[in-house]
Amino acid sequence: MANFFEDNDDLLFYFERGVDWAPLVALVEHDFQSPGGPADLDEARGTYRDMLSMIGELAADEIAPKAAEIDREGAHMVDGEARLPAASEAIFQRIRELDLHGLALPRELGGFNAPMVVHFMVAELFARADNSVMTHYNFHSGIALALLFYSIHEGSTRFDHDQKQIIGTRFAAQIREMIAGDAWGSMDITEPDAGSDMAALTCRGEQDEAGRWHLTGQKIFLTSGHGKHHIVIARTEADKPGLSGLSLFLAAAYEDDGAGGRRRLAALDRLEEKIGHHGSATAAVTFDRTPAELLGARGDGFRLMLLLMNNARVGVGFEAIGLCEAAYRLARGYAAERRSMGKPIARHEMIADMLDEMRTDIQGLRALAIESAYWEELQQRTTTKARLHREPEGDDARRLHREARRYGERARRATPLLKLLAAERAVDSCRKAIQIHGGAGYTREYGAERLLRDALVLPIYEGTSQIQGLMIMKDSLTGMMRNPQGFLRELAQARWRALSARDPIERRVARLAGLGLSAQQHLMQKTVGAKLRELGKHSPTEWSTRLLGNWDPKRDFAYAMLHAERLGRLLGDVAILEILLEQVRRHPDRRELLERYLDRAEPRCNFLHEEITTRGDRLLRELRAGASAELDAAE
Ligand SMILES: Cc1cc2nc3c(=O)[nH]c(=O)nc-3n(C[C@H](O)[C@H](O)[C@H](O)COP(=O)(O)OP(=O)(O)OC[C@H]3O[C@@H](n4cnc5c(N)ncnc54)[C@H](O)[C@@H]3O)c2cc1C
Repeated sequence: MANFFEDNDDLLFYFERGVDWAPLVALVEHDFQSPGGPADLDEARGTYRDMLSMIGELAADEIAPKAAEIDREGAHMVDGEARLPAASEAIFQRIRELDLHGLALPRELGGFNAPMVVHFMVAELFARADNSVMTHYNFHSGIALALLFYSIHEGSTRFDHDQKQIIGTRFAAQIREMIAGDAWGSMDITEPDAGSDMAALTCRGEQDEAGRWHLTGQKIFLTSGHGKHHIVIARTEADKPGLSGLSLFLAAAYEDDGAGGRRRLAALDRLEEKIGHHGSATAAVTFDRTPAELLGARGDGFRLMLLLMNNARVGVGFEAIGLCEAAYRLARGYAAERRSMGKPIARHEMIADMLDEMRTDIQGLRALAIESAYWEELQQRTTTKARLHREPEGDDARRLHREARRYGERARRATPLLKLLAAERAVDSCRKAIQIHGGAGYTREYGAERLLRDALVLPIYEGTSQIQGLMIMKDSLTGMMRNPQGFLRELAQARWRALSARDPIERRVARLAGLGLSAQQHLMQKTVGAKLRELGKHSPTEWSTRLLGNWDPKRDFAYAMLHAERLGRLLGDVAILEILLEQVRRHPDRRELLERYLDRAEPRCNFLHEEITTRGDRLLRELRAGASAELDAAE
């Protein structure tokens, strides 16, 4: 019997040694005092391990063999309702029988109460088997978790401090329905004229005289959007344009009449015809005065959305790793069998090089993914604990909020780097898998082409690669502006370590960290430089206000925006190297991986640094000239 968990040494490393489970499991299990829970850390880890091993077998033996069939049949419409492929339906029936939908949900709500880190490892196993199964699986537990999180956040979840368990939560009925596998949800953001630009959203939330909310507008590209429970972001404040006028809602798209019939409250317009993810239903839905419930406070929709967006992006990171594993193992197997010019193609230098890069990328990405998942979960669980605390403003709660902020900073740094790098490398790895298969890769016979079709959406959904780049760049420049001394100190330390660290491998990592900081410094100098040149045209009395206030992102940050994605790739490699270096200190057997990753990352980082610091002026001049010409024409 095959097993996608047990056959993966790198994943096993994290489970056995690479994750510091103690603080996390103590939070998850309320210091091992929750009823029905494990007595201690060993028992908890033993149960997670059994669970992962069982799911590894399910993924390998029952899901992966159906992937081609699922891709061929695809999700489709029957009598106005969406249907998953028959093989997917059978898999989800098995998942229901095994009670896997509530993996990371609290025991008292019918879940298994595993950490999210375990949930993400499961996501990787499912994605390696079939990407569509993984995405749909996530829209049961993911939406249930989101509802619980929002309820805790707004204060509508009650917690018994003596029993250490939840005794009431606003969306208990919906959460139980999703855990049971009887319904699932979706996250409804995108509209025909608003994707990356959420400030342009137009779907409306309106309140009637009795105070009831209704939604009107169309949402498109919704993964598993044929489901029942829609978390929808909509505009409620007509007088507030942009992001501050948005609120978050829960709306049921249909209700069952108890006699096998269904009354639709929102229309299922269509399923998109896509190039990949065929087994996943991607729906367009129209709300027309559809009843909805407000989540949290009015006008707080964008902020609430952001609270969970990191989680979704970590999920895409693990999804990408699953796909990379599938591509690498498929290509490695083929390259060992296929012979050309007297030897297996795996022994030809260029093919061996591609396989080596694929393997190294997976391990580097997994290091970053586990880091993101770990800090994100610690941050969320600590915030939750503080909110459920008996005295929300007490010293203990304040300490918890401080801790959560610290964890959150680490998660926020790592997550956009993961989303950007993992998504782009999944595409790259899947393309290499096709290339290694030669002509056979271009046919449907081996499934390499399916992997590439599935991978191509990863740099698009949950925030495109360009949007991740902008977030990374914004955080980097804001950090530098807030604390220029801290930045310069960090740069000096990296340069010093690059010269003086005892271990040569640490010197190499520090040199690349220095390159990352130097690229950020260059972007800052270009940004401020443009502003300083602008000052020359104005009276010195205006300099202070013109320099410190009045920033126009389109004009002042153009150079930084041009290089934002490159900066993300460079900082992503540096982040991975720093995590691996830290691992080597505790686990010397990880040194071989660090050396292998460095060998790949060094020329890449040099090149990215060179690009960031030497090019871009010509294009920006042309863009500015084009914009002035457009303005002239308009006048
Ligand atoms: C299979 C699939 C599943 C999806 N699932 C969901 C879902 O469950 N829920 C949901 O709400 N949405 C979902 N989406 C939608 C997805 O999140 C959006 O497609 C994505 O956010 C991009 O928006 P857009 O398509 O409108 O592209 P646009 O925003 O129009 O972007 C087009 C291009 O311009 C770039 N761009 C835009 N603005 C900038 C900028 N300021 N600087 C630089 N470049 C920029 C983008 O990076 C992109 O390359 C899904 C999409 C697909 C294909």
